[in-house]
Amino acid sequence: MAGPGSAASLESLLMERSLSDRELMAASDAAPDYAILPDASVLKIGGQSLIDRGRAAVYPVVEELVEVKRTHQILIGTGGGTRARHVYSVAAELGLPTGVLTEVGAAVAGQNARMLGYLMARYGVPVVGHGAFGALPLYLAECRAAIFPGMPPYDMWQHVPAEGVLPPYRTDAGCYLVAEVYGCRSMIFVKDEDGLYTANPKTDPSATFIPRTTVDELIALDLPDVIVERPLLELMRRARHVRSVQVVNGLKPGLITRALAGEHVGTIITAA
Ligand code: ADP
Ligand code: MG
Repeated sequence: MAGPGSAASLESLLMERSLSDRELMAASDAAPDYAILPDASVLKIGGQSLIDRGRAAVYPVVEELVEVKRTHQILIGTGGGTRARHVYSVAAELGLPTGVLTEVGAAVAGQNARMLGYLMARYGVPVVGHGAFGALPLYLAECRAAIFPGMPPYDMWQHVPAEGVLPPYRTDAGCYLVAEVYGCRSMIFVKDEDGLYTANPKTDPSATFIPRTTVDELIALDLPDVIVERPLLELMRRARHVRSVQVVNGLKPGLITRALAGEHVGTIITAA
């Protein structure tokens, strides 16, 4: 006799009920989660915060990535940045919808992935488009690193935001979802500040540093601006694998290495 939550009961529920049936949805959760790439870490390299700063910021980060890949498997996702913001402003002014902004903005994260890819080519690091993710395990096994464009491929199917027309799920969300789906060991956001502050430290000199927080606390704080995309917090709430992320300062050499080693060197945000 198949007990509740068994594969047999899930199978019969799936045959008999609608996929929106509550009992069926709960039964689909019965099997323990399987981490696909548990030894890999995802690093998001900021667009505006790092890549747009050019050589002075990017070369040291590349050097550090080359060094850490000797001992860690790393999936390197790229942000968009200033060129994405420009295309958002042009498209929004033209009255175009979120789906179109997403499609054109995604190209910029792709450009950043390619540029980073050319810089890391001599170290054997490939750029992997979304359609080729099936080969990631091979690249990780061969050279312990791969670069991917951070924007999630929602294109014109992007969720419409509660307010305005900007794509709500951008490269922070895209990189995080890769880490979560693959059950990676860590997700590190590499940007240009020491982590999260009570306000944007670039515009508010009274902002104070928050070394550690939870998703619930952060939502309750209702800060005027945050260092990660807000929808990331909702994604983390439902996460099965990556229930903690760290934001570190990529302008300070050594912090990527230390964060990968599990050290607390920026702001840690946890799901619970
Ligand atoms: P990325 O380059 O990864 O897209 P963003 O530029 O979107 O990164 O986000 C990083 C920026 O967020 C920082 O450079 C900082 O100026 C800004 N920021 C806004 N609010 C905060 C905050 N509360 N704490 C820290 N930084 C913040
Ligand atoms: Mg951003």
